[in-house]
Amino acid sequence: MEKQQHFLIVGAGVAGLCIGKQLLDLNHRVTIIDNNQNVSTNVAAGMINPIVFRRMTKSWRVDEFLPFAKKFYQQFGEIIGEKIYHEITIRRLFSSQQERDFWIEKENLPAFSDYLAPLSEVDLNYKKAINEFGSGRVKNAAYISAIPFVEGAKNWLKSLNSYLEQSFDYNALNPTTGSYKGIVYDGVIFCEGVAIKNNPWFNWIPINPTKGEILTIQTDNLPEDESLNRKCFVLPIGNNTFRIGSTYAWNTYNTFPSEEGKEEISSNYKFISREPFSIVAHNAGIRPTILDRRPVMGAHEKHSNLFVFNGLGAKGYLLAPFLAAEFVAHLLKGSPIDKELRADRFLDKKP
Ligand SMILES: Cc1cc2nc3c(=O)[nH]c(=O)nc-3n(C[C@H](O)[C@H](O)[C@H](O)COP(=O)(O)OP(=O)(O)OC[C@H]3O[C@@H](n4cnc5c(N)ncnc54)[C@H](O)[C@@H]3O)c2cc1C
Repeated sequence: MEKQQHFLIVGAGVAGLCIGKQLLDLNHRVTIIDNNQNVSTNVAAGMINPIVFRRMTKSWRVDEFLPFAKKFYQQFGEIIGEKIYHEITIRRLFSSQQERDFWIEKENLPAFSDYLAPLSEVDLNYKKAINEFGSGRVKNAAYISAIPFVEGAKNWLKSLNSYLEQSFDYNALNPTTGSYKGIVYDGVIFCEGVAIKNNPWFNWIPINPTKGEILTIQTDNLPEDESLNRKCFVLPIGNNTFRIGSTYAWNTYNTFPSEEGKEEISSNYKFISREPFSIVAHNAGIRPTILDRRPVMGAHEKHSNLFVFNGLGAKGYLLAPFLAAEFVAHLLKGSPIDKELRADRFLDKKP
């Protein structure tokens, strides 16, 4: 049996939680520190959409990521005693004849058979939303209930003595020995999302803050059994309540819900429905995005016991479980990390 090691993880967003859970499953000791300042995982709609509609292509590595994520969240739900993985059909409301033609081109290709339902008469004459060009259904999509996931995970970690609610003090870490406040760790893994800018060892990694806003609305006039998508998404979460969004604003760290954000979402919503709604919540958060749209992971170039796992961008819920497993294999067995994901691809950006 492998010798038990003790790892310190900074950040209990989806990144840190996925790594922590997998290390615990392998019987290692884990301490996760989080300062409850979450600006992304808690705000997210948690959607897992296997299709990129703009180009009608599959999401990056979705065939690997999706089955892994499904199993991961279902099992996590069992541990915390609450269903957090919800399968849902996404109905794309075509915005042009060309988009519909792209769909028809792809719907019978074996590579898309798990995700695109061939268009039917019902899809082409869908009545519950605006769709002058018809609509198509995406199969095997899902959403994770973000808050129950995070809160349930934290309570579970607390019951294992694996969770500390506090700010990580960078000055208290000895990067050479891995000692932090009197305990020597076998590795320290930084998963701080956009707060990486405060990290003296990894602040050179070019993670751009991408602000996103999202509304929670109530209306009697939208379907509750499907998520609708055109210009924005509409995600039913029960009791005539829906999450709609989201916006993208680059290079800002402010997390205030804005009038402009609300206006943008409301006007995008009009491409889906003209029915009235009332707003019950308006939230904003910041995605940790990298320009080349790939996450970043690996060891510090000098301190081999310091690691980073970040840059999950707009798709953290889909990417994190599988990539955390790749990261853990690297951490424990030295398995190589994909070139396109390695932290050292940005070393030349280091001041
Ligand atoms: C509006 C919006 C909608 C989104 N919708 C979706 C979606 O539908 N599907 C999807 O997959 N993704 C979505 N995302 C993106 C998703 O939220 C991110 O990809 C993901 O949450 C990033 O997770 P993370 O763990 O890397 O970072 P974070 O969630 O930011 O977590 C970092 C954690 O580190 C902690 N921390 C930071 N510094 C310290 C410190 N010094 N000491 C202690 N703790 C610290 C913070 O408190 C936080 O809890 C959305 C994001 C937004 C903003």
